[in-house]
Amino acid sequence: MKQPFDLNTVLAHVEEAIRPYPKAAMFDLFERGYNSLFEQLISCIVSIRTLDETTIPVSLRLFEQARTPEQLLALDIPTLTQLLYGTTYPDQKAYTMRGIAERIMTEFGGQLPADFATLTSLKGVGPKCANLALGVATGQAAISVDVHVHRVVNRWGYVQTKQPEQTLKVLEVQVPKEQWTDINRLLMPFGKHICTGTLPHCSTCPVLPWCQQVGVERHR
Ligand code: SF4
Repeated sequence: MKQPFDLNTVLAHVEEAIRPYPKAAMFDLFERGYNSLFEQLISCIVSIRTLDETTIPVSLRLFEQARTPEQLLALDIPTLTQLLYGTTYPDQKAYTMRGIAERIMTEFGGQLPADFATLTSLKGVGPKCANLALGVATGQAAISVDVHVHRVVNRWGYVQTKQPEQTLKVLEVQVPKEQWTDINRLLMPFGKHICTGTLPHCSTCPVLPWCQQVGVERHR
């Protein structure tokens, strides 16, 4: 017998459930002091198709050399590619990062404007990274939908969407603004460790009473 879905209750259980696990990479880097909008955006580029276990050390290695657009532009593509070794598409990411740094220096006087339209106008920056960087670095209400968020909220039955972009639109309507940044902070580790892509841990999941388990055919 399922309980009526209540987002506050469910998120409170998720918060408890993820306590033993590492924080999502960008929240971890923020707590280490890498909290500028530029640093958060760059670490999100690092994280594309890359595990947090790699994103964090690679970002730390990169930030030892460059924490500002100006410092990043002092690194040539081969050096930058070498620093990004271990991530997926390091050479492509090196070009993307230099492109971002160049635009910040030439168009924005060295300061990255904290708005979604500007961030997503940068080549290689999509809605997920723009919203995550804005939410973490500036505290602006922003929902970032990655594969984990998309999968979890669909399994709950809280949304019925096919693509993360659609999920973002629905969540922006359904989730109160003060919880927007929490969505990625909580659901990314929850999706990685508990509501996993294959064989989710339903039998021990604290959210089970509220979850419709949509599409879950086998679980642990
Ligand atoms: S009950 Fe299963 S499907 Fe639902 S949130 Fe928990 S792990 Fe995911």
